[in-house]
Amino acid sequence: AAKEGGKAAWARFEPRMRQEVVNHARLGSELHNAIIRHELFLLYQPVFDIVTGRLHGAEALVRWKHPTRGFVSPGDFIPVAERSGLIVPLGSWVLREACEQLARWQREHGEGAIKAINVNVAVRQLRESGFVDEVATVLSETGLLPRNLVLEVTESSVADGRQVRETLHALHEMGVRLALDDFGTGSSSLSLLRAFPVDVLKLDKSFVDGIADGEDRGRLAVAAAVAQLAEYLQLSAVAEGIENETQLNRLREMGYRLGQGFFMAKPLPADEAGALMSNAPVLRAV
Ligand code: C2E
Ligand code: MG
Ligand code: MG
Ligand code: MG
Repeated sequence: AAKEGGKAAWARFEPRMRQEVVNHARLGSELHNAIIRHELFLLYQPVFDIVTGRLHGAEALVRWKHPTRGFVSPGDFIPVAERSGLIVPLGSWVLREACEQLARWQREHGEGAIKAINVNVAVRQLRESGFVDEVATVLSETGLLPRNLVLEVTESSVADGRQVRETLHALHEMGVRLALDDFGTGSSSLSLLRAFPVDVLKLDKSFVDGIADGEDRGRLAVAAAVAQLAEYLQLSAVAEGIENETQLNRLREMGYRLGQGFFMAKPLPADEAGALMSNAPVLRAV
């Protein structure tokens, strides 16, 4: 629309754009207090072994319940937090909270009940010189094994520079596992997979969406290729955003062992996710 309208289109869009900038500034200052006011909390989306139907792990996803705005989506406030640097204290809170929750689950349901907790990490956190020590401290204070923790990073984070590269190597040395989130959407080269200590590939939802229609050869091909790539490189492959049984079955046939999506479970409060740990297998559809 902007193309056809030329100048006029910009005039139309500008007020909304300015409004967005204002909102972001206000959101940023409000976010500053959100942690101490206990407005942030975590939901946990189960990750399933889609071959056995058993629960494998869970991804911690942050939520913000704003006193007047209601629920603000992470898609709206995470980018604000990244730009302002607030993602660093926010991310520290998420890491500790998620590890404490996994430790609680393991105490309540046994260590085999859930193998891993996935935590999203922004590049700003990885650039902090104290990040490796922070992770080590949280692990020792919660009593988790490093292999229980999966840090989800993006392809662009991995390509950030020397500091981040060294941080990722140090985390890997420690035994923490690293997952490439939204895999397939980044613009970075596949050679990253050889240069960095990646353990898990998370196929982006957009490629899983392509399976729904069964028509989109391009996205189907990427989904299948990522499963093959993971197998050759001996990495674990997770498909995310699975919304129906057709997708689940096709992904399993392609070789995906792990899956996450609304078809199996939405992001859940800790107690509801915990309820899946008492009886296994929980996935009826396999
Ligand atoms: P992500 O890490 O790729 O997380 C997956 C997102 O896909 C989540 O959205 C999840 O609710 C959604 N999802 C999972 N399965 C399905 C499905 O079957 N259908 C659909 N439509 N969506 C599905 P959410 O929770 O809104 O988070 C969005 C993004 O915000 C995350 O994408 C992640 O990049 C970021 N994020 C969330 N929590 C954190 C955090 O603690 N730290 C950082 N740095 N980023 C976070
Ligand atoms: Mg993620
Ligand atoms: Mg993702
Ligand atoms: Mg995503």
